[in-house]
Amino acid sequence: MAHSYRELLSWGGRLAMDEELPPCPEAEAALRSLMQGNAHYQEHSRNPAELSDLIRLRTAHEGQQPRAAVLCCADSRVPPEHIFSAGIGELFVIRNAGNVLSTAALGSIEYAAAHLHVPLVLIMGHRGCGAVTAALQKHEEPGALGELIAEVRVGVGHAHDPRQAERNNLRHSLESLGESEVLRDLADRGRLGFAGAVYDIRSGAVELLLDEDAS
Ligand SMILES: [Zn+2]
Repeated sequence: MAHSYRELLSWGGRLAMDEELPPCPEAEAALRSLMQGNAHYQEHSRNPAELSDLIRLRTAHEGQQPRAAVLCCADSRVPPEHIFSAGIGELFVIRNAGNVLSTAALGSIEYAAAHLHVPLVLIMGHRGCGAVTAALQKHEEPGALGELIAEVRVGVGHAHDPRQAERNNLRHSLESLGESEVLRDLADRGRLGFAGAVYDIRSGAVELLLDEDAS
């Protein structure tokens, strides 16, 4: 990979917080381990992670220490634990259609960062996202779904191409992390890093969002 995880986190941090953040080696290690888990998933198409009663009992007794908070789409083809070869207690996952950084999603991320001390926040969009497709269309959905699509539409911005729309929506969610003083404070102290990624539902590959993807 041409870009180091530190560069990716630095850019993700700048995008989220609009400033250069101090290095966070723990976030770098967490991102590397997630990508290694994804490489394993792509190669073997199975999840070797610990799912036994032993790990259930241990985490029930000792509590959870997840490696990362992951906000991703609710799409059934985007299962984060399988994608990253992760088991019980490893990922703090927040999901909704279109990976929108709603108040509930941001509050959950703040909880994971401030109380569970996750070093990494990863927001992951995906190819072929139905929520983004719906946001690109003029058709209006009734009810809460209509409100959700309207939020995704804000993230999509002026994009017409579905892939660019997915990236814009992802970048918007990343940028919105900057509204959180809790996250900003942790990032300022080098305790938290941020990254964005796009998941390919055909290949199983997670592609980290790079600076040149900006539009
Ligand atoms: Zn989706």
